[in-house]
Amino acid sequence: MGEQAARSTRNAAKRSAGAAPGKPAKPESHLAMVRRARRINRELAEVYPYAHPELDFRNPFELLVATVLSAQTTDLRVNQTTPALFAAYPTPEDMAAAVPERLEEIIRPTGFFRAKARSLMGLSAALRDDFGGEVPGRLADLVKLPGVGRKTANVVLGNAFGVPGITVDTHFGRLVRRWKWTEQEDPEKVEAEIAEIFPKSEWTMLSHRVVFHGRRICHSRKPACGACPIASLCPAYGEGETDPEKAKKLLKYEMGGHPGQRLSPPPDYPGSPAPPLGAG
Ligand code: SF4
Repeated sequence: MGEQAARSTRNAAKRSAGAAPGKPAKPESHLAMVRRARRINRELAEVYPYAHPELDFRNPFELLVATVLSAQTTDLRVNQTTPALFAAYPTPEDMAAAVPERLEEIIRPTGFFRAKARSLMGLSAALRDDFGGEVPGRLADLVKLPGVGRKTANVVLGNAFGVPGITVDTHFGRLVRRWKWTEQEDPEKVEAEIAEIFPKSEWTMLSHRVVFHGRRICHSRKPACGACPIASLCPAYGEGETDPEKAKKLLKYEMGGHPGQRLSPPPDYPGSPAPPLGAG
C-alpha cells in the first residue's frame, strides 16, 4: 500500500493543481462519468483481484441463510455463528422443523434473533413445501420467500447461481454516491442506474470490489483518502484523512494487516482467516 498511497497523493496534488482556485470545476458529462466509472472498476479489479462474498457458505441454502442473518450486523459475526447453526440444521427440512427457542439461541449473536428465526423457519418451510427443498435460482421466486428482499436475492443469484446481479448495500450506496455515479438514495434506483453504466458480466464482481473498497479504505466516517489507490478518479477526495501516514493507519482487514471476515476464505485471499466465535 505504501507505493499506492504515494501514487494517489501525487495524483491528487496534480488534480488540485489543475483547478483554478475558487472556480467550480466544469460539470462532468455523462459520457465522461461513465468512462471514469469504468476506469475505477478496472483499478479496483487490480487492487482486489481476490474480491469475493464475505459470508462463508458451502451451498445456496447456506448462502441464503447467512445473507438473511447479515442484516444489521457484520459478516464476521454471521460467519462466527453459522458453523453451529448448519451443524444443527443442515437442510431446509431440518431448519423448518427447529424448536424456535433453540434456533433463536444459536443465532442470538447476530442480533434481532427472534425476527431472524421467524424468517429462517418461514423460508425453510417454503423451500421444503414449494421448491422441493432446493433454493430457487430465479429472482421472482426468491423475493417471495419470508425475509428475502431484492438485495438478498441478488447476493444469492450472483454468488450461488452465477446470475449477474448488483448488490446495493450500505457500502455500495455510499461509494457510488461519493463517486457521482448516481445521486439516488433508494437502493432499487441505485441498482437501475449503475446497471446502465456497466455490462452485465461485470455486475457481480463490481459489487464485491466496491464493497471491499468500502470496508477497507473508503469508510463511512473516516475514508482513508491519503492511502486510496483511486484518489485521482474520486470527486470526494479529501472527505477523509489525506495524510498518507495517518490514512494508512485507518486501513482494515488484509489492507491493514488484520484478519478478514471469513473463517474459510477463498485460497487466493492474501489475508488471514477470521477467528471463530469467542476467540477474538
Ligand atoms: S472518498 Fe477518499 S477513500 Fe473514498 S474513494 Fe474517494 S479518495 Fe478514496
